Amino acid sequence: MRIVVTGAAGFLGSHLCDKLTGEGHEVVGIDNFITGDPANLSHLPTNQFSFLEHDVTRFIPVDGPVDFVLHFASPASPVDYLELPIQTLKVGSLGTHNALGLAKSKDSGFMLASTSEVYGDPLINPQPESYWGNVNPIGPRGVYDEAKRFAEAMTMAYHRYHSVDTRIVRIFNTYGPRMRLHDGRVVPNFINQALKNDPLTVYGDGRQTRSFCYVSDLVEGIYLLMLSGEHEPVNVGNPAEMTVLEFAEAILKLTSSRSAIVHKDLPVDDPQVRRPDITKAKALLNWGPKVPLEEGLHSTIDYFRATADASVQR
Ligand code: NAD
Ligand code: UDP
Repeated sequence: MRIVVTGAAGFLGSHLCDKLTGEGHEVVGIDNFITGDPANLSHLPTNQFSFLEHDVTRFIPVDGPVDFVLHFASPASPVDYLELPIQTLKVGSLGTHNALGLAKSKDSGFMLASTSEVYGDPLINPQPESYWGNVNPIGPRGVYDEAKRFAEAMTMAYHRYHSVDTRIVRIFNTYGPRMRLHDGRVVPNFINQALKNDPLTVYGDGRQTRSFCYVSDLVEGIYLLMLSGEHEPVNVGNPAEMTVLEFAEAILKLTSSRSAIVHKDLPVDDPQVRRPDITKAKALLNWGPKVPLEEGLHSTIDYFRATADASVQR
């Protein structure tokens, strides 16, 4: 297939490009580098990968046939989308409209990278796809949550009214190499702090929960969903739920760090629980996560160690 990936230079986008080229597909990556890094793409085979530097909130020009559009462009870390609120709303709305328009004009498939944030601060745990969520539209996180909810509605409309062959993946917290050192998410924050023996900054009392999925598991689920014929949303994530405090302790142990734990204010509307119900992904795709937290964190810690060393040497 010839596959367009928006947000290709980001954390997930670049791992997707690895998977797709590895499976023998041709990939056209698109990114404006607002939170991405060209270095994430530099290793890709030039006979299978081409790149267009472009902001997808403007008309997306792609020559030639396209079999699938994977729309992954969007700031994704809470720190990023709080710093880039309008860009986040625009890429979720205008960017999704343009990416769907591209899919329609090429008669190709389309996948939206949606998020567990569509469930907001959920009132049920774990969250099945049938849950409509508990989102504050005017809070600071609303710029991301509502953009993604709009993007899901737009995707279903293109499916229903233009018969585009669409998919919606609701991605839960994912981690791994190529996360940005300073993107502000809990995984890079804690690992960096631990490696420097700086205090780990736990927001609030640390009893809020998350469920962390290693990137190779996520990418496998996304690939299987692309090959399926499912149009309604599918959760992909790891249901192993833990508190943020337990996560901090796991990082301290795995890095043998001397860091203390300090508490900082809990961000506004920070979800108190989050855990995917993956019954649908299991039944539909025969998919489930395989990489245990400790193993995934080892690879991620090695990556951050190497990145930190390289930046000291520069
Ligand atoms: P990321 O910030 O590493 O990657 C996003 C990429 O999109 C970046 O390379 C950025 O430059 C690009 N981008 C943003 N706006 C753009 C625009 N207007 N035009 C072109 N490129 C643009 O984030 P990520 O973690 O890789 O997330 C990728 C996607 O997955 C996002 O849509 C995000 O909402 C979704 N997602 C990620 C997670 C996660 O845990 N990583 C969880 C839920 C959903
Ligand atoms: N968090 C924390 N310390 C940090 C960064 C994040 O305690 O230095 C918490 C944050 O409040 C949230 C959880 O870790 O409860 C996950 O935050 P992240 O920014 O990774 O993404 P989210 O899951 O909120 O989208």
